[in-house]
Amino acid sequence: MPKEQRRVLTQDEKSEILNKHRVCYICLKNLEGYSSEEIEFDHIYNYADGYPQDLSNFAPVHASKDPRKLNCHKAKGKKSPYKYREELRIKSKLEEISGLKDLCPSAVQSVYSILKDKKSITINGDTLPLYNQKIGNKDNFYFYHEIATKFIEDDDKIQLRPLEPKILPMIFHLKESVQLLPSLGRLDPDLKTIKIFDGQHKAVAQIIGNNRKKIPCLVFINPDVDKMRVVVYLAHSDFLQQRYKKSHIDAKLAEIYKQRIESFRKRVGDPNTNLKASSRVFIQLLNAVL
Ligand SMILES: [Zn+2]
Repeated sequence: MPKEQRRVLTQDEKSEILNKHRVCYICLKNLEGYSSEEIEFDHIYNYADGYPQDLSNFAPVHASKDPRKLNCHKAKGKKSPYKYREELRIKSKLEEISGLKDLCPSAVQSVYSILKDKKSITINGDTLPLYNQKIGNKDNFYFYHEIATKFIEDDDKIQLRPLEPKILPMIFHLKESVQLLPSLGRLDPDLKTIKIFDGQHKAVAQIIGNNRKKIPCLVFINPDVDKMRVVVYLAHSDFLQQRYKKSHIDAKLAEIYKQRIESFRKRVGDPNTNLKASSRVFIQLLNAVL
């Protein structure tokens, strides 16, 4: 398929876009004082990635060659304006906070009741199954839920770590991937708030990066705080399992893909035996493997 030509905008179309946007799409600052040569009309989402070239996918950005003026077009590099704007938004938001405590400074009290048979809990209007990790004679009740951020706060009694710099790539990762594990919290019976004591980074990532109003949480009901502190500490130190070794994983992946390639060749034939068909087969092969 021939590559689609980049759409060339007419003056009228540019004026229409300027009327709609009025500010630079990337930095959100004024375009006043910028001549038509100092404004670039960019695709908000890259058309190379399959996004349409409709006028609605164009926005003005600063592109002045004058060093005293803004050149957001140059600063974004190869990223789409949308991606770059998100990057700037997330970075500046991160500068304002030191942890979950700044995003969720004080939780709204939860209204809850546990059913007599202790098999379910009604909390803030939702009825959820209640589970019990019984250890010896001691009950350890907990539930899982996506909890509205207004009902959560940082647990300064157990959560002792500040945010780590690795959170930035993790935020971008969670914009495109599922979150595997929930954050962990406890329901404080005196304050009646849900305190998040582990999984702070993913909570912050979802709130800032994805603007989530609810985050997945596993919540223990009134656990022993001192004991939980030790459990969390040990989980992150002594009991931390071996990190994934890249070489180990690469070998496993190679094995998985080898099987796929072999079964594909059985179906379609070996691309190396027929030069003419080879490029077509190679693309099919890639699709089968990826
Ligand atoms: Zn700008």
